[in-house]
Amino acid sequence: MTLSSLKPRPLIAGNWKMNGLAQALDEARAVAGGVDARPAAARVAICPPATLLHRLSQALEGSSVLTGGQDCHVRTSGAHTGDIAAAMLVDAGAALVILGHSERREDHGETSALVAAKVEAALAAGLEPIICVGESLARREAGSALQVVTAQVRESLPAALAGQAFSIAYEPIWAIGTGRTATIADIEEMHASIRAQLISMFGESGKAPPILYGGSVKPDNAAEILRAAEVGGALVGGASLKAADFLAIIAAA
Ligand code: PEP
Repeated sequence: MTLSSLKPRPLIAGNWKMNGLAQALDEARAVAGGVDARPAAARVAICPPATLLHRLSQALEGSSVLTGGQDCHVRTSGAHTGDIAAAMLVDAGAALVILGHSERREDHGETSALVAAKVEAALAAGLEPIICVGESLARREAGSALQVVTAQVRESLPAALAGQAFSIAYEPIWAIGTGRTATIADIEEMHASIRAQLISMFGESGKAPPILYGGSVKPDNAAEILRAAEVGGALVGGASLKAADFLAIIAAA
């Protein structure tokens, strides 16, 4: 197998977080209309809150735009009030799931070991995981960003990922929703380090998974970020809530 045949298309995924009521479906329809009218170089996904997932998946049926969840439980069913099993996401139309987002690691105390178990649950249900990693500002300023993220990759990725479709999203916590982005040099250094870690864990197939960048990606910085070495797409928060902004980012891929 050649290296080029290992390279999947970039992925641009919108993370709506805890935003969106029924009327937000119109934004998603506008995204799908734009993507389907002018097919994108990248695969495109929208990950809405769980309450909208089924309706959004139905609204986008027939479109190339995929839908995804924002988390899943490690178990397939049972007494876990408020949680959602991976198969439930699939049942609601999801093809992907974001796992280990820093907001879940921070707000819900998710460890990398838990994230790895969630990845296994997602794979078992047939979902493609987007596994998030990223350092805090304190860790970056202490000069330990590379070590922190390498450890997160090592501990959040189970062996079951070998040969499976998945992506990593590098999201420096201090760049999420703040309007600050990492420099291109910092992004390239981190993505190269993540790639090296993937190859050390999975061998040749570690060259394939796209490494997305996330953290205040906007229409005016997307092209430069998406052109950077080893950037295989973007995980987009705030700017994915407005169809026009999200479409401009998709067009830059
Ligand atoms: C995110 O949280 O996944 C994210 C990248 O958010 P934002 O684009 O708003 O910084």
